[in-house]
Amino acid sequence: MNAEIIAVGSELLTPTKIDTNSLWLTDQLNTLGIEVVLKSIVADDRPRLTAQIAAAFERSDLVLITGGLGPTEDDVTRDAAAAALGIGQTFQPKIADQIAALFVRLGRKTMAENNKRQAFVLDGAEVLANPRGTAPGQWIAKNGRVVILLPGPPREMKPLFTEQCCPRIEKLLPPIVIRTRFYRVAGIGESDLDQLIAPVYTKYTNPVTTILASPGDIHIHLRARCTTAAEAETLLTEVAEPILELLGDRVYSDDGADLETTVGRKLKAKNAWLAVAESCTGGLIGERITSVAGSSNYFRGGFLTYTAQMKHEMVGVPLEMLAQHTAVSEPVVKAMASGARIKTKADYALSVTGYAGPEGGDDGTPAGLVWIGLATPVGVEANKFQLWGDRERVRSVAGIYALDWLRKKLSERS
Ligand code: AMP
Ligand code: MG
Repeated sequence: MNAEIIAVGSELLTPTKIDTNSLWLTDQLNTLGIEVVLKSIVADDRPRLTAQIAAAFERSDLVLITGGLGPTEDDVTRDAAAAALGIGQTFQPKIADQIAALFVRLGRKTMAENNKRQAFVLDGAEVLANPRGTAPGQWIAKNGRVVILLPGPPREMKPLFTEQCCPRIEKLLPPIVIRTRFYRVAGIGESDLDQLIAPVYTKYTNPVTTILASPGDIHIHLRARCTTAAEAETLLTEVAEPILELLGDRVYSDDGADLETTVGRKLKAKNAWLAVAESCTGGLIGERITSVAGSSNYFRGGFLTYTAQMKHEMVGVPLEMLAQHTAVSEPVVKAMASGARIKTKADYALSVTGYAGPEGGDDGTPAGLVWIGLATPVGVEANKFQLWGDRERVRSVAGIYALDWLRKKLSERS
């Protein structure tokens, strides 16, 4: 749909008065997705305005006319529009009464005879109430096109347009279908992810891609606006496919499910049980796993083995191993995972031990160094991570990395 704007008023053709209404209306129309293809300014001159309105109605879908709806002889918009469109005008007493009531409200005893001119409505037009002024707007639909008469004063025109015209115009526009895709990604930083996928999504303005990041966990939203659902889905697939290919198994969810829910679904599908032994995460992983309803079907329990002694007593880490390698070490994190798995008779066990900070280890190991262990039916593995950030961030990212590693392990074919 295209639009044309006609600003009416001889004052707008002087060197001092600017037609600001057209600029404001152009912005409004653009926001609705409508292009303005022609603007003109016409003097308070009935024949010229009639000719201009007739021409606009011939060539444009939507014609907006501002100004010239006042009560005086030089306000000719109503008459010109009626002549141009070949329709009559009828005096509407109700509108005259409303104008008279406004005069009383404003403390002006009687309505001037002139103001009655403003109570004439083009036949078949919808009246657009103008509580901020005397001249109502008019909406005239004819031959699949629309002509709108708007008051000139910006303080009347703007709210009238927003309140009465925008909803009516939206109804004329083709229906818009919005379809979205939503992916969640772990194991990659926000800027690395953006560098990887920006070459794909920046080629498109539809769908719009939004990336929301929290430490260790990123959300990617794709939002397509089209006239049909099929068109929107096609566009989404066009953008999503290369993005998914680039991200590979770092995408853990395409339906909004969080990491613990995804892990839970995989454990359930495998009929497998999980246990945890946590040191620096202090139960955070167990908390996340058990936040999912139904987790009793796959989570056996866990050990909060904070001191070396508890690592020994609860999950059987040998004291000599702890003395020799320290509590934050590969052998210890493996022993924690294996011990938790055996003690609970689980199929899988995750373990975490590290320096959440701000202090590192006595031996000079920096804060943020975290070992994660994973015991499975076929063996035990460990991974070392050097995480950055404060204590809260290190603990939360360690939990995410542990859950994400388990997720990937559960996705492997066995
Ligand atoms: P009118 O409705 O033509 O009597 O206009 C009343 C007043 O509104 C004018 O004197 C101007 O101050 C203002 N006005 C009318 N048209 C415009 C316009 N296109 N842009 C800015 N102000 C306008
Ligand atoms: Mg005027």
